[in-house]
Amino acid sequence: MALTFHGQGEPALARQLLTELERADARVTVFAVGTWLADQPAMARRVLDGGHELGNHTENHADISRLTPAEAFGEINRCAQRIKQLTGSIGVWFRPSQTQHANAMIRAQASRVGYPTCVSYDVDSLDSTDPGPPLVVRTTMSQVRPGSIVSLHFGHRDTLAAIGPILDGLRQRGLHAVSMKELLA
Ligand SMILES: [Zn+2]
Repeated sequence: MALTFHGQGEPALARQLLTELERADARVTVFAVGTWLADQPAMARRVLDGGHELGNHTENHADISRLTPAEAFGEINRCAQRIKQLTGSIGVWFRPSQTQHANAMIRAQASRVGYPTCVSYDVDSLDSTDPGPPLVVRTTMSQVRPGSIVSLHFGHRDTLAAIGPILDGLRQRGLHAVSMKELLA
């Protein structure tokens, strides 16, 4: 299964989360918002140096399904160029912003930028609503199954508090958190 993160918010929280994931030998995929990388350029390498994958989550995290094709292209491309500047490559994965599933317009624009695969998720941990760590754990563990892609967020203290129990729960079920590349291999 895969743990995937919306990449934005306080870098100290993100670093703690990544360190805890690495301690449990989990590898994750971080979908970075472009403006976050502009503010926190060191986070791009930090993610990759931990053995994780870095994906594109648009420049401004607007509701991409409501943009024109040209605007959507710009949002994806600006973030892609930022990732390339920081890491040498635009990466492999794109996740639409404020939209669970890519539509045909989004897929076409992502493909034009160089992302053949738009990554959705089947388990929404609801962590970005700050419901308290126990509910984040329960929401995740009640839905996760082999092959699942779980949506989580950097920048939320509940996520940091919930990640240990989630990793314990996964281990008890014989599930291991791997990167998107490993999941789809
Ligand atoms: Zn997001």
